[in-house]
Amino acid sequence: MSNKLPLEPIELTLEGDLLVERHFGGSTGYTGENDVLESWVGIHKGCGYAMYRQHSNEKFDCLVCSGCFLRILFFKEIRTYGELRKYLVAEHNNLRAHRASPWRS
Ligand SMILES: [Zn+2]
Repeated sequence: MSNKLPLEPIELTLEGDLLVERHFGGSTGYTGENDVLESWVGIHKGCGYAMYRQHSNEKFDCLVCSGCFLRILFFKEIRTYGELRKYLVAEHNNLRAHRASPWRS
């Protein structure tokens, strides 16, 4: 881990929840797209608490927020931040295209 820029926030939900950088930089640098998601993965922007990777079931792992208990499922084969980002962007694009609800815009 020796990235010069903080992790670009990862969109967790359609409602605007974001996963953001966990490190302060300095000599250790920041979290990178190729870093592996394990244990403490970042901060849930907004509530400000730590998010952790947990095993969920046969197919899915999840990120869980230790503050508000937001829980985001993703395929357990996903290893890195970059892969998670790609997966969630695809999921959200799909949802935006197909979920027409009067409650969403
Ligand atoms: Zn939270």
